[in-house]
Amino acid sequence: MTSAVPSDDLFIYYLAGRVADPAPLHGPGFLGNWEEDGFSFLFFSAPSDDRVTAVVRAQPDLSLIDRYIMRYDEWQGDGVVAFGVGELFVAPPWSDAATPPGSRRISLDPGVVFGAGTHPTTRECLAAIQDVRAVDGRIGRVLDLGTGTGVLALAAAALGCGPVLAVDLNGLAVETARRNIRANGMGARVLAVQGRAETLVAAEADLLVANLHHEVMMAVIAAAGFRRVRWFVLSGLLRSQAREVAESLARLSVRLVDQRTEDGVWFTLIAQGPASAASAGASRQRRWVAGF
Ligand code: SAH
Repeated sequence: MTSAVPSDDLFIYYLAGRVADPAPLHGPGFLGNWEEDGFSFLFFSAPSDDRVTAVVRAQPDLSLIDRYIMRYDEWQGDGVVAFGVGELFVAPPWSDAATPPGSRRISLDPGVVFGAGTHPTTRECLAAIQDVRAVDGRIGRVLDLGTGTGVLALAAAALGCGPVLAVDLNGLAVETARRNIRANGMGARVLAVQGRAETLVAAEADLLVANLHHEVMMAVIAAAGFRRVRWFVLSGLLRSQAREVAESLARLSVRLVDQRTEDGVWFTLIAQGPASAASAGASRQRRWVAGF
């Protein structure tokens, strides 16, 4: 993978099956393999029919379904650009945008993975993490479920939290997050692992951040250990899904503190676990409400 401006086209090969031996794919222009539900998306920066054909021939249960050419910026939504949220400034490594005074810069190369900051849910999470941190300065351990590029985990670390455990089911996401963790010199504070959010929610955390699909979110909420967490930032939810999540939280005595939406489509919930709510004094509660 490269840190050069990926301004060129992406060549995407969509395969049924999982590539057992990816070694022949590696070489110039190979950007990564995104596997999902028994399908594989192979990303290259140049046409790579020969390499893909070789892999398909070698593995009888693999088949090429389709090929796409797409501009990198198109793949990443509005393009990968530097942006600021509160005191955080997130910029791709090829950006020469200056860090605003007083901001903390996070260098983020999203590659072909979700979490470039172009989606409103990512930005809402970045703001929410800062708000929670402003209210509760004692947040140490952070769990980022569905880390993608690692952006939220790095944000938490940049704000002084740690240790941070960044989890993603997808191997390419974990690889991308690890590269970003290294690039930011955060290896001692942020650990990226491949695993299921539903399982790793059992890890101890003061703050749980999850920008996930609704079904996965519901499984995370139902998992043992969920309600031990002090603070939650939950995103990736459409309006009706957010309502369903809020109802589940109420059943667990997890207090909904705030619900936000930038575009009226995607919702982000901030909530406080029962342990935290019980120990927080009335003045802290007032401060929180006044903060919004
Ligand atoms: N946290 C980033 C990326 C969110 S995209 C951001 O806020 O921008 C959601 C991520 O969740 C994807 O990278 C996807 O691979 C991952 N994911 C989906 N299901 C998962 C599961 N069951 N366990 C862990 N990660 C999962």
